[in-house]
Amino acid sequence: MVLAQLGGSISRALAQMSNATVVDEKVLSDCLNEITRALLQADVRFQMVRDMQANIRRAVSLETHAAGTDKRRVIQKAVFTELCNMLDPGKPPFVPKKGKQCVVMFVGLQGSGKTTTCTKYAHYHQPKGFKPGLVCADTFRAGAFDQLKQNASKAKVPFYGSYTESDPVKIAVEGVERFRKENCDLIIVDTSGRHKQEAALFEEMRQVSEATKPDLVIFVMDSSIGQAAFDQAQAFRQSVSVGAVIVTKMDGHAKGGGALSAVAATRSPVIFIGTGEHLGEFEVFDVKQFVKRLLG
Ligand code: GDP
Repeated sequence: MVLAQLGGSISRALAQMSNATVVDEKVLSDCLNEITRALLQADVRFQMVRDMQANIRRAVSLETHAAGTDKRRVIQKAVFTELCNMLDPGKPPFVPKKGKQCVVMFVGLQGSGKTTTCTKYAHYHQPKGFKPGLVCADTFRAGAFDQLKQNASKAKVPFYGSYTESDPVKIAVEGVERFRKENCDLIIVDTSGRHKQEAALFEEMRQVSEATKPDLVIFVMDSSIGQAAFDQAQAFRQSVSVGAVIVTKMDGHAKGGGALSAVAATRSPVIFIGTGEHLGEFEVFDVKQFVKRLLG
């Protein structure tokens, strides 16, 4: 189920409820069941959906005691609030400040869009007065450095990497040092991915993180991975202290549930979404706007 379908299904469930003459227990149950089905089909985890149902019921029973309360509005508001809460871990992300050097490390599985997203992130900040630098610490994938180099050149962002050095920790440390000396204030470290979650990947990530002491670790997740999102995000979070999530490929047949699950698993906010292969196809993620758009 693509995002628009998820929103459509929830909106339809709400509309059906609005058409009912009286909002009784049956109408509320039907509405909640429809919403539950839509969320599960969009790959949101069962526990999250169950909690959401309980929270909506609680809100409805708390707020509809007074005579004359518009039950429909209470339910609609509760659904909106619950969807927002699912996407908001209640913890603001680290935000880089101009002129104050910081290291941002990107982690994620191979193919998630990590390298592309590193450049997009640099490209987004550059016109705002930041001086970014890109470090390619991905020594695992053949061609990773060439890709970063190509992307970085296109975005006119300085880059650092090596064709011969095979130790990612060494490259990461050298790159960060180089850019610190060059007064870059946004030092971005692209790390290796793997096709699947492997112990070696997590160990490497942990070492790069320990050596470069990032101010922020961003977990990059492909929006189409579906139900696997929660476990994947949680596995990354257990190895490095993920502080934010970027969900990529939201332009494709994206499932909304992946983003919701990643937030729950990492307890970190989604900060941007990738909406295409090009540099500029990158949007700041705004929870309320996202949910509003979702519900149409
Ligand atoms: P990495 O292995 O995680 O570094 O992934 P890459 O950055 O190489 O990206 C893998 C593929 O996904 C490339 O073909 C990218 O162009 C593509 N890609 C990355 N982000 C997006 C996105 O937001 N939308 C779309 N449609 N493609 C993307």
